[in-house]
Amino acid sequence: DLKGKTAVVTGSTSGIGLGIARALASEGADIVLNSFTDSEEDQALAKDLAAEFGVSVRYIRADMSKGDECRALIAQAGACDILVNNAGIQHVAAIEAFPVEKWDAIIAINLSSAFHTTAAALPMMRRAGWGRVLNVASAHGLTASPFKGAYVAAKHGIVGFTKVTALETAEEPITANAICPGYVLTPLVEAQIADQMKVHGMDRETVLREVMLLRQPSRQFATVEQIGGTAVFLCSPSADQITGTTISVDGGWTAL
Ligand code: NAD
Repeated sequence: DLKGKTAVVTGSTSGIGLGIARALASEGADIVLNSFTDSEEDQALAKDLAAEFGVSVRYIRADMSKGDECRALIAQAGACDILVNNAGIQHVAAIEAFPVEKWDAIIAINLSSAFHTTAAALPMMRRAGWGRVLNVASAHGLTASPFKGAYVAAKHGIVGFTKVTALETAEEPITANAICPGYVLTPLVEAQIADQMKVHGMDRETVLREVMLLRQPSRQFATVEQIGGTAVFLCSPSADQITGTTISVDGGWTAL
């Protein structure tokens, strides 16, 4: 179990990040939740999780688009045995129409934030003599789709950065891996369904069938619980020699 370990999960007030936080808490890990909002709901979520799993849960606000705030999140956490780089956003547009500020935001939040948090967390893991870095990449870290230039670039980037993190820690009891989900029905994907309906001029059902789950041979969304379970496995002793690699949870997407 993960009692006595502290897990910092970026972007964890909804979707996959929250699913991973819940799964790690259920194994006894203390949790640091993060987003950039610091709303009443964020604080209530931390309280509810602590009560449900009997672990310490703190919410720390930090904007993952800003390098200094990424580093401050880890410093404020005070301990970081398990670092989950999960915060991410999406924008769908053709390259020549892609808004520059969206490109910059996606590279900052989906890729550069992991550089900053990892740089801040590795010294803590070394002092503790154990560590796990889990980067939430995507099937789009291994394959591409049109209209997702920034996202695909950032996700391929984080897969590469995961390998470098693994090599720099290879002789230590620290591992670094990337989880590559296919489609998971979260608020981020709900927004994409709306975007794709616009781009293709299709209704919701047609977008699901002919655009989104077309790439996912199982024709089913993965669940946040399944991603959480994968994170727990990567933190278990069975995974001590798994480092610098990707685990796909994508219903067969990358087998196509
Ligand atoms: P989501 O929109 O449900 O959750 C994203 C989380 O990130 C939220 O908690 C949000 O508050 C936080 N966040 C956004 N911008 C932030 C910022 N600047 N600073 C701090 N926090 C910020 O999204 P999700 O679907 O759960 O996605 C989580 C991760 O999983 C992302 O990296 C995404 O690319 C990846 N992913 C998702 C899917 C999917 O199908 N949903 C598939 C593959 C990979």
